[in-house]
Amino acid sequence: MSDFDLLPEDRRRLFIGGTWRESSSGARLDVIDPADGGVLTDVADGTLEDAGAALDAAVAAQADWAATPPRDRGEILRRAFEALVERGDDFARLMSLEMGKPVAEARGEVTYGAEFFRWFSEEAVRIHGRWMDAPAGTSRLLTMRKPVGPCLFITPWNFPLAMGTRKIGPAVAAGCTMVVKPASQTPLTMLALADVLAEAGLPDGVLNVVTTSRSGAFSETLQADPRLRKVSFTGSTGIGKVLVRQSADQLQRVSMELGGNAPFIVFADADIDAAVDGAMLAKMRNMGEACTSANRFLVEESVAEEFGSKMAIRMGALTVGRGQDDGVDVGPLIDEKAVASVSALVGDAVDRGARALVGGEEPGGEGFFYPPTVLVDVPADADVVTNEIFGPVAPITTFTSEDEAIAHANNTEYGLAAYAYTRDLARTIRLGERLEYGMLGINTGLVSNPAAPFGGMKASGFGREGGFEGIEEYLETTYLAIPAP
Ligand code: NAP
Repeated sequence: MSDFDLLPEDRRRLFIGGTWRESSSGARLDVIDPADGGVLTDVADGTLEDAGAALDAAVAAQADWAATPPRDRGEILRRAFEALVERGDDFARLMSLEMGKPVAEARGEVTYGAEFFRWFSEEAVRIHGRWMDAPAGTSRLLTMRKPVGPCLFITPWNFPLAMGTRKIGPAVAAGCTMVVKPASQTPLTMLALADVLAEAGLPDGVLNVVTTSRSGAFSETLQADPRLRKVSFTGSTGIGKVLVRQSADQLQRVSMELGGNAPFIVFADADIDAAVDGAMLAKMRNMGEACTSANRFLVEESVAEEFGSKMAIRMGALTVGRGQDDGVDVGPLIDEKAVASVSALVGDAVDRGARALVGGEEPGGEGFFYPPTVLVDVPADADVVTNEIFGPVAPITTFTSEDEAIAHANNTEYGLAAYAYTRDLARTIRLGERLEYGMLGINTGLVSNPAAPFGGMKASGFGREGGFEGIEEYLETTYLAIPAP
């Protein structure tokens, strides 16, 4: 199967009300191959009129969809899960082309992303309220759950499939309709996903996808409309704040999955080889372009040299190249701006006395590549430590006590994921209690799991995706007060 059989020309359009249509202006939006900077293909560039049409379609479909039996909603998700698994290789290749990640890694994202459909196909039939006697005994309390209503989903380019299925899965299960706007740099995977859901039997208008280059005006227009009841966003903290402000006038419910600055803490009592394995996973998943990516390594002084030199060997052995080529571990970054930003962070650290054990130099040539890099002797206030890197750079700083490690780890506006390697159970509990993060990986470099509540605190946002908690974001509660019989 060639790359675009999964997404032929008549699918590189807007998906509104169950039909594939061109933008009302006829405009197209180029999709760039990050491995060489060339144009891969193009998609429809939706207008504000198209945004309105998509919301009209979602609103029109809402009542019937909410009344559709939970089992039927779940079965649609189940069929979509199976179709995704079956077409996993094609999805992986498509995603690798538009985003750059190695095909094997994209295959992992298909598995992860599809699992949200399986999980929420099972949750669709477990939505329930409660019945209780009021404490005074004079009345009974009955609660019922209802879908929140038409939603707007805005997703980033780094996980083009999974950041969509984490929202679409619970919304479909809860009985909500939706308008989805994928990142303009990676629209192809979401369009292919819409096709899968339509084939799985999702009624027209439940899911609408609009690709557009005018994301600001798009969200402003839709959020000004009182018929839109919910916004779920995954992306940068700056844009998240804009969307929360825009939600105020219509008091839309919001879920915000925003940036991170994950500390990866290695205590001297840890299994250092296991910590290096976990560090590679936490750092290099998605070339470091993940909100959960280990952003700074805090290593107890007595093991810092061993940890740093082992990391440098592993990072230096990775093969950088086009994500679709065999044997490639690290693909290009998303664009030129991303390379410049990573370069500037490394430059600042080196200017302040850090040393690169491996990497640290832009390779030049075509495509948006940056080499795996390990920095040691990094000052704790260097930009590379305080900012989200979003690239394959591992800065190492040291600590001498648990209190110092925790203070460093919490010294950030973010609070998404943190990691710690230790063999001490009591310390593990203390870390859970004292670290201000939504997720904590203990002796593992991977926290993402469709059955777990994914999300953060502080500037990393609010709300949870996945787990039993994920569907709550899409449900309202009505309570009935009934006199005691
Ligand atoms: P971004 O610039 O915030 O973009 C994310 C999405 O928002 C894209 O679809 C983008 O559209 C859209 N957008 C931009 N401005 C907008 C506006 N004014 N109104 C409505 N939509 C707007 O973030 P990114 O660079 O794509 O993604 C990287 C960030 O996402 C990082 O900070 C990362 O940590 C975070 N992230 C968080 C999670 C999590 O679960 N917490 C997961 C993954 C990524 P265009 O493409 O058209 O600009």
